[in-house]
Amino acid sequence: MPSPLDLVILGSTGSIGVQALEIVEANPERFRIVGLAAGSKNPELLAEQAKKFAVPIVGTTGDRARLISLLGNTQVIDGSEAASQIAAIACDVVLNGMAGSIGLGPTLAALAVGNKVALANKESLVAGGDLVMAYGRDQIIPVDSEHSALYQCFLSGKASEVKQVILTASGGPFRDRLDLSDISVADALNHPTWNMGPVVTINSATLMNKGLEIIEAHYLFDIPYSKITAVIHPQSVVHSMVEFIDGSTVAQASPPNMKGPIAYAISGTNRIPKATAPIDWSKSHSWEFSPIDSARFPAVDLARRCGELGGGLPAIFNAANEVAVEAFLNGLISFAQIVDIVDATVQKLGGNSPISITSLADVSAVENDSRIIATQLVQERK
Ligand code: MG
Repeated sequence: MPSPLDLVILGSTGSIGVQALEIVEANPERFRIVGLAAGSKNPELLAEQAKKFAVPIVGTTGDRARLISLLGNTQVIDGSEAASQIAAIACDVVLNGMAGSIGLGPTLAALAVGNKVALANKESLVAGGDLVMAYGRDQIIPVDSEHSALYQCFLSGKASEVKQVILTASGGPFRDRLDLSDISVADALNHPTWNMGPVVTINSATLMNKGLEIIEAHYLFDIPYSKITAVIHPQSVVHSMVEFIDGSTVAQASPPNMKGPIAYAISGTNRIPKATAPIDWSKSHSWEFSPIDSARFPAVDLARRCGELGGGLPAIFNAANEVAVEAFLNGLISFAQIVDIVDATVQKLGGNSPISITSLADVSAVENDSRIIATQLVQERK
């Protein structure tokens, strides 16, 4: 067994971070945690993680004094740059499991010092795809299950032989529901196949998540939007597919569980034994696939349009969605208004030719504009 990989985990108390640490705990000979970062929501869990894995340095946007009182002699850094500072610790892999486009700065900080990034924070690519990919494809390993699947499928052929990529979408809890006007927060948080954080779960219900993932795939694999499609696959077992020019389609399949893609990415694309349960072939299975009904789920086409126009529009699209999802979770707007508000924000800000994005400050500026407009629209509609 080679020496353990030094791992940094950003967003360690969230869904992805917690599952990554379970993989590390089950494979202590493979990994060593050299830094953790998390927000302010759960300092007790962050402290428990740091103690359990004997982590030398911890970053938080929360209360530093509180964390020190829980931790004793561990180094603690705080403030808005804490995650970026932890991300820049020289290591083998930085897992970015943060939620939202605040993950972009830490992703860039990790890449800038030459660290590999296991990227679960899709917003890094949606909001700052050009900035992230400027570091080159070798430094980024996708964790998003669809993109992990595509990464694995791409190993079957050459880039020039790819005809199209097909992202699968569970369709969320409202796949077959015709009337989306009276959906409660509890309904929307009840995902049929995946167990995830609240924002991703709402994004799955609107299919906004699939829209974000189309943009993510475009940047990650340098594929034009015309070659990226998405289909409904309610069982969430086939995680995505690549169709090659000879008519062959390669799929990656496993029961829905993020531990598979997390383990594959944090190990530097190695196969960790029993990372996730395999398909049970002693039982019968039916896998269904169907096109997305874009009239009921307009988020996918909207994302594609923003992606094709490029520049700052994907960042505007994502930031407006973050505002709208929060407003929905707080009971300020209805489920159907989420996509309306994103669409209206994009129309207000995207009428001019796309703004080019050359720095993190550019991203912050367009996001800020987007949040202001989206917040105004929430106030008008609530
Ligand atoms: Mg996904």
